[in-house]
Amino acid sequence: MSSAIQSQLLGAVLFAATKHKDQRRKGHSTVPYVNHVIEVAELLARVGGITDVAVLQAALLHDTVEDTETTFEEVEEKFGADVQRLVEEMTDDKSIPKAERKRLQIAHATAMSERGKLIKIADKISNIRDIVDRPPPDWTWERRRTYVQWGEDVVAGCRGVNVKLEALFDMVVAEAWEKLGKEGEGKECGETS
Ligand code: ZN
Repeated sequence: MSSAIQSQLLGAVLFAATKHKDQRRKGHSTVPYVNHVIEVAELLARVGGITDVAVLQAALLHDTVEDTETTFEEVEEKFGADVQRLVEEMTDDKSIPKAERKRLQIAHATAMSERGKLIKIADKISNIRDIVDRPPPDWTWERRRTYVQWGEDVVAGCRGVNVKLEALFDMVVAEAWEKLGKEGEGKECGETS
């Protein structure tokens, strides 16, 4: 790895950590939000074998515009147009109601670029793991199941880009269903709220 690549990656880590500094993972006051984006990039590199620096940078930056005051112009200026476009692909329009945004993620998945799909799969692996292993305290089992199903529906449109990442996604989802129970099973037991 050249020192230029190391600088590009570490620059994105620093930028994400700075932008997300006041945020924590949903419902967990002790888990910094930036852990999530670092995990997404780490999964792409370690599991997916991804060496495309722009993809790894975009993974680190994928929630900055959606969840902080960061602008696309700022991302482009610091990391270039290629990274900016990938971040844009990963950014939901928050002016749209949440239910519609979620529906659009499913509808738009197949039209994403291959690189965007890679980040999306790793993002869903990270999120589903969190929802299963340390859910926000106010989430019911039903809400967790609905989330896992939605993640599956989004990733269904992203397949065919990376065998290893997709295999890990399938494993994480299988474990999730084992823990949460399939639709209709045990609906009332273990509600967390
Ligand atoms: Zn994310």
